[in-house]
Amino acid sequence: MVSINSIKRGVVIDHIKAGYGIKIYNYLGLDKAEFTVALIKNAPSNKKERKDIIKIENAIDIDFTVLGLIDPNITINIIEDEVIKKKIKLSTPNRVEDVIKCKNPRCVTSVEANIPHVFFLLDEEKGQYKCQYCDELHTFSEV
Ligand SMILES: [Zn+2]
Repeated sequence: MVSINSIKRGVVIDHIKAGYGIKIYNYLGLDKAEFTVALIKNAPSNKKERKDIIKIENAIDIDFTVLGLIDPNITINIIEDEVIKKKIKLSTPNRVEDVIKCKNPRCVTSVEANIPHVFFLLDEEKGQYKCQYCDELHTFSEV
């Protein structure tokens, strides 16, 4: 087991809602990672709540838009030389492309290939999105 406290260079994904860490871990394909990754579950958080944390010992490219979609309360710390170089706050994206797939079988994106799956934010609180083409609703927490 590696020390989870010190990262020389990498990314720490913090304030993940407890239980969501594994979703993000899988989404980022970290199960296949060849570098050090730690998934910390149910860490104590300041507001009596529990949180998940992911520590990645590698400078990787992360699609922050998608993480904002999963949970806008997540914070991302970019670590260099063991200090936080950059803190990134996420927000719920207004428009996402090719992240959510439309489930409506009659939707043009289901019928024809090569059409981008574009969704627009409908209800930020519920995390609800609407397909650009057929108005099919999608709530991201289902993923
Ligand atoms: Zn659609």
